[in-house]
Amino acid sequence: MNETLTQKILAAVEYGFEEQIAFTEDLIRFASLRGAEKPAQAFVHKALEKRGYAVETFAIDIDKIHDHPGFSPVTVDYSDAVNVVATHEPREQKGRTLILNGHMDVVPEGPHEMWEASPPFEPRRVGDWLYGRGGGDMKAGIAANIFALDALARIGLQPAARVHVQSVVEEECTGNGALACLIEGYTADAAIIPEPEDEKLVRANCGVLWFEVHVSGHPVHVREAGTGANAIEASFRVIDSLKRMTEDWNAEKANYPYFADLDHPINFNVGKIEGGDWASTVAAWCKLHCRIAIFPGDDPKTRADQIEAHLARELADDPFLGNRPPEITWNGFFARGYVLEEGSDAEKGLTDAHRRATSSELESFVTPGYLDARVFVIYAGMPCLVYGPITENIHGFDERVSLSSILRVTGAIALFIADWCGVEPIDPEAAHG
Ligand code: ZN
Repeated sequence: MNETLTQKILAAVEYGFEEQIAFTEDLIRFASLRGAEKPAQAFVHKALEKRGYAVETFAIDIDKIHDHPGFSPVTVDYSDAVNVVATHEPREQKGRTLILNGHMDVVPEGPHEMWEASPPFEPRRVGDWLYGRGGGDMKAGIAANIFALDALARIGLQPAARVHVQSVVEEECTGNGALACLIEGYTADAAIIPEPEDEKLVRANCGVLWFEVHVSGHPVHVREAGTGANAIEASFRVIDSLKRMTEDWNAEKANYPYFADLDHPINFNVGKIEGGDWASTVAAWCKLHCRIAIFPGDDPKTRADQIEAHLARELADDPFLGNRPPEITWNGFFARGYVLEEGSDAEKGLTDAHRRATSSELESFVTPGYLDARVFVIYAGMPCLVYGPITENIHGFDERVSLSSILRVTGAIALFIADWCGVEPIDPEAAHG
């Protein structure tokens, strides 16, 4: 791509930037927690339709996806879990096709009093930072995808290849949203997901398993506590046991390319705990909501079996749990990790676009958390570039995303699109004029 076009595109991104950030703020105002994404998705649907794309909104249909190897088990109702996909068709298919993907779901914001910069769903700009739950993870990315295309339109150009803009749900819990899009038939020659990755490219990441451990006890009055088994206390022994297993798994890291150098790639988390009924009654039940990572290449089923076998073995001699083994249910992420193979044309394109937009070299790195890119890479054989803005405190309090970084990333995405898809004039007459 010549320097003049590069500068024109970057200037067009900058010209639309205020509008882009206002749009991002609009997205943050939607508390699009799991199961509540629909209004935000309707907003995006409208915004894409207004731009002239063919737009489809569809609910995830479990019947269509549950036999796919990438499916994660769920018990929640999916009738409100809707994906939005916009499609641009060129007049003449000359370049390579592309998917620009982002997820609309955000993780729970926690107690509001712990947000100091501003309430979680009231976006606020302070210096270079934009605050708000989901701003970085990843509403800034959804907006960047849309406004990168807008920048081309602003200078009279459009991609000379089919492009899908996807806004999906369920990224933070199952990955079933992106999977449902693939099963609907949406594929392309490459995909970009502008997740909050500090302007770096994700080379590889972990898969994730979610599971619940149900510990049940025998309720008695506390004065006879010696005879009753306290399920809450017993659950501590389950947690300790799972932590020991986590260390065993981390010790395997040398077997996995890209992971040997990470300090602690496999992290186990108890993210939620419920249990008991009454302060003076020995707790009869306790439920742990757990998350653990697995290495790319690992089969979720094999690792799930290992967890069950590990607990059965370690708790066999436990005075209480030995008789009443905890029950494990798989409810959420059951997802593989992936590796983005080096040397793809898509990566070369992004390396070049990043250099031109930021005047710096693109670095790649390895992340220990789930990404929807596994759907594209593993199940569609597509290069998927996870690359997005600088952020802080995602999943925490005072989540914030860097405005100047959003600008650079949007520029890089716009340049990537122009190079990967090629461009054609929106109005062919104007091209001859
Ligand atoms: Zn994310």
